Amino acid sequence: MNLLVLGAGQLARMMALAAKPLNIEIRAYDVGSQQVVDPLNTAVPYGSLSDGIAFADAITAEFEHISHDVLALCEQSGKLYPSSQSIKTGGDRRLEKELLTLSNAANATHAIIESAEDYRSALDTLALPIILKSALAGYDGKGQWRLKSAKRANEVWQEIDEFFAGADSKQKQGVIAEQMVPFDREVSLVGVRDKTGNTKVYPLAENHHTNGVLSVSTALAGEHVLQAQAAEIFDRVANALNYVGVLAIEFFQVGEKLLVNEIAPRVHNSGHWTQQGADTCQFENHVRAVCGLPIGSTALIRPTAMINILGEDTLPNALFAIPGVSLHWYGKEKRAGRKMGHINVSAATSAELQKTLELVAETLPDNETFADIKLYINKQ
Ligand code: ATP
Ligand code: MG
Repeated sequence: MNLLVLGAGQLARMMALAAKPLNIEIRAYDVGSQQVVDPLNTAVPYGSLSDGIAFADAITAEFEHISHDVLALCEQSGKLYPSSQSIKTGGDRRLEKELLTLSNAANATHAIIESAEDYRSALDTLALPIILKSALAGYDGKGQWRLKSAKRANEVWQEIDEFFAGADSKQKQGVIAEQMVPFDREVSLVGVRDKTGNTKVYPLAENHHTNGVLSVSTALAGEHVLQAQAAEIFDRVANALNYVGVLAIEFFQVGEKLLVNEIAPRVHNSGHWTQQGADTCQFENHVRAVCGLPIGSTALIRPTAMINILGEDTLPNALFAIPGVSLHWYGKEKRAGRKMGHINVSAATSAELQKTLELVAETLPDNETFADIKLYINKQ
């Protein structure tokens, strides 16, 4: 079977690595060069988008910011999973908020801003502090403004207005103004829905961010109340979209209640731990679902955490000597802050996992992000 992935980054690469033993061949459409390439060696060209569509039995996406023309072409072929509507919803916070309302999923109070007038009325209805997020362009905390005091209201509007003026004019720009949530922690749920509507979810992961970028995700065992709440929300959201494939939901935890932050219609960074910690990893399950195969068990097989490697292209070989440590490099060119790879750390028990994480922390270099990660690990 052949699968075309829209996007040629690390998520397509990890799908290809998981698909190969299933005899499923993956090619990736690089939205920058508009060429179809080998996801493991992006220098190998396989032609245009229409060549890729002809090659594929199924088509999927590794990210949500894909031009609507490309999505329409893929959808016309009848091979695209999840649907273009699901992908567009993940790429537009306005559609995302509509979906959350429709699915009766609790989330932060918000207002949609597309003009100066909308901005003024949002400031009248929402209490400060608020966070303003670009509806179309955000990732890794980019395209966001925080407003804590009314004194800065005009200044922030100037910045948003300039942002609108400089943005792609094909789609109507907007921002979502959201009440700041005083959360206890951030968690996410990765789950999968197959073509017949069966769903399975992985254990929740606790997420730690460094400078607005995910840096550590730890699978949570034994959080039965939260897990049941998250699984229910997952089913409502995935069913509302008639979703096929892996879908991630990011939450704010406030006491025992989960508020949805955002959804990602794809495999997700906070699910990379499943490669070593779950029965079937998220990449294999996504491939299975979009290819119409039965989905695999999402059970936790051993306590596991994932550490992102940001802005480094080598790490000490001593890491290989620590039992339970697995390295995953993405083969990307080094750039400050860029997601270059990740480390999965597993152990037989949670206590052993904590000890192993402390060993890993000692072995990692002392750059700025690893310094923050070490603090986080050693505080647990
Ligand atoms: P990513 O691509 O890393 O998921 P993003 O750019 O899509 O990020 P969000 O996840 O919406 O953006 O926001 C980034 C971070 O900002 C969140 O993980 C959270 O820490 C903080 N944040 C966002 N919205 C709120 C809110 N309403 N209240 C409090 N904190 C928030
Ligand atoms: Mg997020």
